[in-house]
Amino acid sequence: MRRLVPALLSLSLWACDPGAKCPQCPEATPADCPKAKTKVVASGPAPAVDNGDIKLTFAAPKSARLKRFEAQLSGSKLFGKVVDGINETIALPRDGAVLVSECGRIDAYYDPKAPGVVVCYELAEHFESLFKGKASGAELERMVTGAVFFAFLHELGHALVDQLQLPITGKEEDAVDQLASVILIESGSGIEMALDGGRAFLLNDAKGYSGNEFWSEHSFEKQRYYAIVCMAYGAAPKKRGALTKGRGALPQERARSCPAEYKRIKTSWQTLLAEHAKTG
Ligand SMILES: [Zn+2]
Repeated sequence: MRRLVPALLSLSLWACDPGAKCPQCPEATPADCPKAKTKVVASGPAPAVDNGDIKLTFAAPKSARLKRFEAQLSGSKLFGKVVDGINETIALPRDGAVLVSECGRIDAYYDPKAPGVVVCYELAEHFESLFKGKASGAELERMVTGAVFFAFLHELGHALVDQLQLPITGKEEDAVDQLASVILIESGSGIEMALDGGRAFLLNDAKGYSGNEFWSEHSFEKQRYYAIVCMAYGAAPKKRGALTKGRGALPQERARSCPAEYKRIKTSWQTLLAEHAKTG
C-alpha cells in the first residue's frame, strides 16, 4: 500500500497519466509530458483556498469482542495514509472528521454535520462473518480490512462530494464507488481491496428483491460487484484476464467495454479533484 498516497496525489495534483515520467508526473513517459502540462490546474478557476483538514480518530470500543477490529484497522495504517494524503493535496473548505468506532449497528456513513465519516467496528465483524467460509487466518483478516477500507473510501467520497460541491450526474452512490475503486486500483497493491469490497457486495446480495431495492439510491449489490470488477479489469485487461473466468467472472459482453469505461471514470475523477488541488 506504499503507493496509495502517491496515487491519490496523482488524482488530485497531476491531471496526467500516473504512468508518466516528467517533472509533473515522475512516472510518465516523455511523450505524455506536454499533454500533462496543458492539463494541469492552470486552465481552471482560481486556486482553491485550503481552510480545513480531516482528523482521524479510532475510538476504543466498549464491547470486548470488537477490540481486535480496532487493533486490526488502526494497525493497518491505511486510514491515516489516505487522510494525510487528502490533507496534503486537497484544499478543503472546512475541517472534517473520520471516526472509526463502535456504533451499536453494522454501518458506515457520512453525516455532513457531525461527526463526518463514521466507520463502525461492527461492519468489520459483519464482513468477517461473510468471508469466513471463503478464507481464514491472515487471508481472512486481509479481506476484512480490504472490504472495510473500501467502505471507508466510499464514505470519504460522499464527504468530498459534499464539501467540495462536486458535480455528479447519475447516482452519487455509484460515483463514490468509482472513486474508491480508482484510488485502490491506481495504488497498485490496493486492487485486492477494491475486489474485497466487491466480494462483500456479492456475498451480501439480497436473494429476492422486493420494493425497497427498486427505489433505493444504491444500485443492486451484484451490480456494484460487477462495476468494481469491470474497473479492475478495465484498468489492465491484459494483466487481469483471470477476472473474466471462473466464479463471479465478468462476462465478455461487459468486459469489452471496461477499458474505455475505466479510462473515462478515472479521467472524470482526476478532473473533478484537480480543481481543488492545494497549490503550495
Ligand atoms: Zn454511500
